[in-house]
Amino acid sequence: MSDKPNKHKSTTKSLLNNTVDSNVFEICNGFSSIYQSSDIRIEDVNNEEDSILLYARSTRTDAVCPYCGNKSHQVHSRYIRKIHDLSILGKEVLLLLELRKFFCKNIECNKKTFAEQPGNEVFRYRRRTRRLELSIIRNGLLLSSLNASKLLSYNGIKLSSSTILRNLHRITPSNYTDVEKIGVDDWAWRKGVSYGTIIIDLLRRHPIDILGDREEDSFRRWIKCHENVGLVSRDRSTEYSSAITSIRRNIIEIADKFHLIKNVQDRIGKLISTHYAEYRNKVREKESKETFPVNHVTETIPNTKVYKKETIVDQRMIMFREVKELQQKGFKSFAISNKLGIARQTATKYCGMEELPERNSKFRNNYSLYDQHVEEGVAKRIALRTLYTEICGMGFKGSLTPFYDHYRYLSDGHRGFRSKSFKASEKVVEDRSGLIPIKQISAIIDKSIRKKSISKFENGIINILSEFDWFRQMYDASKKFYNIITGNNTNELIKWMKEYWHTKVQTLKTFIIGIKRDYQAVKNTIRYNITNGITEGFVNKLKVVKRSMYGKAGLKLLKIKMVVQHSIFN
Ligand SMILES: [Zn+2]
Repeated sequence: MSDKPNKHKSTTKSLLNNTVDSNVFEICNGFSSIYQSSDIRIEDVNNEEDSILLYARSTRTDAVCPYCGNKSHQVHSRYIRKIHDLSILGKEVLLLLELRKFFCKNIECNKKTFAEQPGNEVFRYRRRTRRLELSIIRNGLLLSSLNASKLLSYNGIKLSSSTILRNLHRITPSNYTDVEKIGVDDWAWRKGVSYGTIIIDLLRRHPIDILGDREEDSFRRWIKCHENVGLVSRDRSTEYSSAITSIRRNIIEIADKFHLIKNVQDRIGKLISTHYAEYRNKVREKESKETFPVNHVTETIPNTKVYKKETIVDQRMIMFREVKELQQKGFKSFAISNKLGIARQTATKYCGMEELPERNSKFRNNYSLYDQHVEEGVAKRIALRTLYTEICGMGFKGSLTPFYDHYRYLSDGHRGFRSKSFKASEKVVEDRSGLIPIKQISAIIDKSIRKKSISKFENGIINILSEFDWFRQMYDASKKFYNIITGNNTNELIKWMKEYWHTKVQTLKTFIIGIKRDYQAVKNTIRYNITNGITEGFVNKLKVVKRSMYGKAGLKLLKIKMVVQHSIFN
């Protein structure tokens, strides 16, 4: 065999004695076969306290020059490479690979010598086998590099978090230039401050790109590079849509179903909250007819005379008075909270109070003064956070969180603050009064619009509300709209718009104006059965990935984690 030390130029002696114990040799050979790495033979194993050392050599007698492709048999020298491999039984594995340098005898080659590169696991200049690097990348993609480093070290692979990062950064995600149908949505770097864009391949069902902003320009540049794109499912934003229009290609735009329905629901909630007092009076009227035919309940309570009827405009005050009434009737706070559908803490708190204290902020924030400004701003894609600063300059006194909550209906549902939604199915107590908080009403209406079954009590709530013109119109319109959007008749949409065009309900009117502006895309929603649900899912995943990197992630790493994960794990 030619792997005997070169007589003339040997810089390293062969690691092993040539007289290997035959017993050891057999074990090693057996080992070598499970340790699959073509062209490499394990010749000895040394089991140390915290690591396993594998002594190995190439099985080939010759090597091919990587510079010119010439085969060579003439050994120049030997040296040892230390290469880390996947651990065995939790122990670190170190491959001590005795490699040879060969002379290149090709006169035209500009190299005199070259080193052999046996097998397909060990690459030039690398200190780790390919499978180990893949394992490191898998861990790095799923976890933060710090956590990955910890987890790997328990499995006998010791490396630092920055090594993991370096491995990740070496990956170049594919460009996916052949993509045809995409879903696009925005996500928040920092809520209300800066945003990015995520692009999903709707056929392969995985993310293919992440952009650092949600501007028209960057999306236009992206779509120009992807010439096969023929269908874009997007949210209702104008930026993406004008980017698509500006490149003058025949691209089908689809407005996303999820956002359309979400928008209607938020508008119903807002409508009810502005008319809450009317709803309350109706409920009480009904109850007094049933149980107290002569006297209205509120008149028997001295405390309530403090408040004039006109001042009872907000839900909080109404609830306070309801609690007081029930308390006078002898109900305990637990029963009151059940009856009214409010939190027990609130019921207990109100029971202990004589009068409802002012809100922490002394001013009732007059949102209606700023509605127009904010709505226009959102249409221009100005971040809610920026708009908040602007209206504060105009004299708005409220704080940020209620501001986000109030304008939630403008923000596509997932931007801005989202209050905990109340599950209508939770603890339905049939014998409570018809007066329940807005969140609960919204949840019930949501169920009803989506044609899920509702209980008798819930049906009663809708019946009470249906006595108001404003509600009936909005409710019927929403129901029809839901049917149209989930159905397959595009002609119904224009009929629906005409039917409600002259509505007196302002929020419904602005919704229809929005639909009109985006008519083609909304129509396509009905025609093509495509939802952005998968895109929304990946936005959620992106949030998790972003947070797992402790806010230190750059765009490049975020993109690798989101885009490469799919191809590495499938
Ligand atoms: Zn050569």
